[in-house]
Formats: sequence, structure tokens, C-alpha cells
Amino acid sequence: MKLVFATHNSNKAKEIQSLLPSDFQILTLTAINCHEEIPETSESLEGNSLLKAEFVNDHFNLNCFADDTGLEIEALNGRPGVYSARYAGEEKSAEKNMDLVLSELKNKENRQAQFRTVITLILNDKTHLFEGVVKGTISIEKKGADGFGYDPIFIPEGQTQTFAEMTMEEKNLRSHRARAFEKMISFLNLT
Ligand code: IMP
Repeated sequence: MKLVFATHNSNKAKEIQSLLPSDFQILTLTAINCHEEIPETSESLEGNSLLKAEFVNDHFNLNCFADDTGLEIEALNGRPGVYSARYAGEEKSAEKNMDLVLSELKNKENRQAQFRTVITLILNDKTHLFEGVVKGTISIEKKGADGFGYDPIFIPEGQTQTFAEMTMEEKNLRSHRARAFEKMISFLNLT
């Protein structure tokens, strides 16, 4: 069965492909010749992942899944959330996004936060949602050089290091994205 992953990132697609039985063929947007910018205009992670999956399902009539991730900070009422990529502006600078978060949390005692990934899968015209969450805290300063996005300021629960101080394998063991994908993969393995 052909299943589109609504991303242009072929590495992400290869990773999922390797976890599925060979009767599933994962295709990226590039592979199906979808070069349009899919609008992500919703105010929730659920909404944006649904917009992306529906776009492919409607325009290409193919089964599809899409993911969307955000960092949700308690003291900021869940911000940056769905705006995580462009929190400090449209240039999508990870450094500026982290600086803004750190300045907004200055003098705040509550530094609780979570990364949340939502996947929407449209399979045979039925919609399924999968969620992966990792709880943690926002550090006082940036630490570590690995990873991307907000990794240098996020310390997962029970750990002392930020995601950016961990190897990719260590991060993937407990990451929000890994947890959401594990749920979808178990579901697909059962169908
Ligand atoms: P996306 O939905 O995967 O594109 O993620 C949206 C934004 O959330 C990214 O641009 C990053 O700023 C942030 N983000 C998502 N996943 C991670 C992560 O694993 N570590 C740090 N930041 C992340």
C-alpha cells in the first residue's frame, strides 16, 4: 500500500519506511510531484496536521499522514505551541526563538514545558490521530550543540542534560516525535 508522508524530508521518510512491513511504500511530497506550499493556517497542531494530510488526500487521492510539533510552556499559556517555528518572526531563527522564550521566562519560577507531536493519518478516507508528548523544563541558559530548534533549552523530565547535549539516539529514545510515530506504526502494523 502506498502511503504519503506529507514532508519533503526524505530522511524522515526513510526512517519511517524502515519501521514498517514491506507492503507499505512510503512516498514523500517530492515523490508524488507535490511542490505546492501546503497552507498551515490552523491555530492548533491537530488542525495543521489535518490540513496537510487532507490536502494530499483531496488533491492526489492517496492515503497520507502528516505531523506537526510544538513546544508548549505552562507559564506562557502553552506558547509558542503551534507558532514554535516562527515564534520570534518569519525568518524562523532557532536562536532568536530561544532568546525570546528565555527572556519571557526571566524571573518566572514555573519553567514546566512539553514538546507535543500530533500525527494525522488518513487511511481509506478515515482519519486517525496519534499524539506523542515529552514533559520537561526550560533551562536557564542554552546548553549543548546537537539537535535543532529548542533542543538547547529543553531538559526532559528525570534528566539533567538538555536535548542538545544528548546523542540523537538518546534523544530519540524519549522524544515526542518518536512516541507519536511508535503509536502510528503499531496501528499500521495491526491493519
Ligand atoms: P515541525 O512541526 O516538526 O516542523 O516543528 C515545528 C517547530 O517546533 C520546529 O521548527 C522547531 O522550532 C520546534 N521543534 C519541533 N521538534 C523539535 C525538537 O525535537 N526539538 C526542538 N525543537 C523542535
